[in-house]
Amino acid sequence: MLSAQTTDVRVNQVTPLLFARYPDARALSEADSETLEELIRPTGFFRAKARSLQVLSQRIVDEFDGVVPGRLEDLVTLPGVGRKTANVVLGNAFGVPGITVDTHFGRLAKRFGWTASEDPVKVEQDVMELFPPRDWTMLSHHVVFHGRRVCHARRPACGACPVAALCPAYGDGETDPEKARKLLKYELAPGQEELRAEMIENVHRAAEIRMRTQGHAVAGLADPTPGEPVSGTAISGTDVPGTGQLFPDRPSGEAVAGLGDPADGEV
Ligand code: SF4
Repeated sequence: MLSAQTTDVRVNQVTPLLFARYPDARALSEADSETLEELIRPTGFFRAKARSLQVLSQRIVDEFDGVVPGRLEDLVTLPGVGRKTANVVLGNAFGVPGITVDTHFGRLAKRFGWTASEDPVKVEQDVMELFPPRDWTMLSHHVVFHGRRVCHARRPACGACPVAALCPAYGDGETDPEKARKLLKYELAPGQEELRAEMIENVHRAAEIRMRTQGHAVAGLADPTPGEPVSGTAISGTDVPGTGQLFPDRPSGEAVAGLGDPADGEV
């Protein structure tokens, strides 16, 4: 829902704070709309996305007692949730293996010769026959990742592709290594240090918010003010308590204990 028309990096920049502030469907359904919009603003189309999140969370509260259902047939009844999203949720949150066919997966499955179909459900079935269930969820992630970064729709970077030797479609794209390297789209490649620092900063802040919510003291933060909302309830303005603002112009970039920097291209 958040990922429409934006990058993985932007989504991963926002979700730590979002989930720290609104830890469950009930909290999200009761969120102050303006505060929620401000939180997810970096992902673009934030007003429409905030509305969708609240409609979705309200349905989960009303029809599933606030708990995300763990069956495909229930998930696809939720607004904004199709088979693709349902399989992502099942695979990653419930450990139920599934093939996630989005535009990248469909394109690459054809290039690899795994399917001849354009129909996402048929693609899903064709690929399921080729791989054991234990591999389905991570295979989906790896193929989508490869499609976004390397094997693009119009000009695949064949000359810089790590699976070129195995690929029946090698040569569909740019084969000159130098030119192909320039086509790669790694969102956290060198030159994106500020963005990386922002992501790390937000993970740090989310951890602080969670600790405050649980009543732990956080070094460098004042104790929560009595009566100050620190859980998933609406907050005034756009501040996260104790942090001053949600998205600083100048991220500090300080390291977060226990967290390594994401590798280039990893999000
Ligand atoms: S060799 Fe070219 S077509 Fe094949 S996976 Fe790599 S980038 Fe895609």
